Amino acid sequence: MNDTMWIHTLEKQALAGESLNREAILRLLALDPASEAALCLGRAAGRLARVATGNRGRVWSAIGLDCRPCPKNCTFCAFGARWGLMREERELAPAEVIDTARRLVHDGADWVTLRTTEFYGFERLCRLARQVRDAVPGAYHMVVNTGQMGDAEVRAMQAAGIDVVYHSLRLGEGACTCFTPEERLETLRAVARSPLRLAHLVEPVGPEHSNEEIAHVLMTALENGAVLSGVMARVAVPGTPDGRREVLSERRLAQLTAITRLCGGLRVPDICVHPASRLAVEWGANVVVVEGGAVPRHEAFCGEAWRGFDMAQARALLREAGYAVNTAEAAPGRDGNCAP
Ligand code: SF4
Repeated sequence: MNDTMWIHTLEKQALAGESLNREAILRLLALDPASEAALCLGRAAGRLARVATGNRGRVWSAIGLDCRPCPKNCTFCAFGARWGLMREERELAPAEVIDTARRLVHDGADWVTLRTTEFYGFERLCRLARQVRDAVPGAYHMVVNTGQMGDAEVRAMQAAGIDVVYHSLRLGEGACTCFTPEERLETLRAVARSPLRLAHLVEPVGPEHSNEEIAHVLMTALENGAVLSGVMARVAVPGTPDGRREVLSERRLAQLTAITRLCGGLRVPDICVHPASRLAVEWGANVVVVEGGAVPRHEAFCGEAWRGFDMAQARALLREAGYAVNTAEAAPGRDGNCAP
């Protein structure tokens, strides 16, 4: 069967709730991003997105709580102590976090993520999450993106009002990071055993990653029950070991996004792309990210939205692609995609 006919078959299978196997994922990954077949894939993913999401676009917001030199020295991260970019420690005060969360929710964010380095402190993070929940009413999902965790930590997070955990097996885990894949998998399994929901992107993707590596990480996200997936490109942060490396083309990023959409089918309604890309939003992504504060993709603390991509721009991008989005004034109630 030629690629185009085969992709139409995959689209029907995804709509019928069938999963793609590894062989199919590898064949999609091997398509030339500039080819007609890749365009066909992107369009199929775009159609599937409308069905899977009920035509709903969403904004994932993230507040980076702490900037500090990190001895873990992941090669893509601006915080790595060895790169010397983060000379001063900076931490947001609880009142700043609450104000930021309030503004993000008012502006229509669907998720508010408290993101930390490995050194913030788990109990402090839970206390802060509870403070935000108590101070900021709304139908948003409270997310943490922090270090490794087990069953006890997961239970404490749930008690603190957290309902989603962002965690991922990274591409190049153990080589570009100092964590072993098994450490990551233990956390993913602890979340999968709990009522908390998992968000897991394929990240940080660069042209250096093989199709086999990308397929493995994507399948890990799906096998661990991620309700939100998608793709985050590796950003070349000047001064880090990856600072001079080539980054993904927009078309390849959109192709990978489309593949995550087809693989997620109807089970993974929310597919995210980061950094935001109009083509990727047309090719299956319904979620874009607004982030600020401590951002591992930036060589200094971000007082404003990273790269200027704020809530208004995020909403406009999704709307231009035909999605319905929250208004700035009132967020709708949870619709079950990620609800606890
Ligand atoms: S990604 Fe996390 S663990 Fe790795 S250097 Fe950055 S802050 Fe440290």
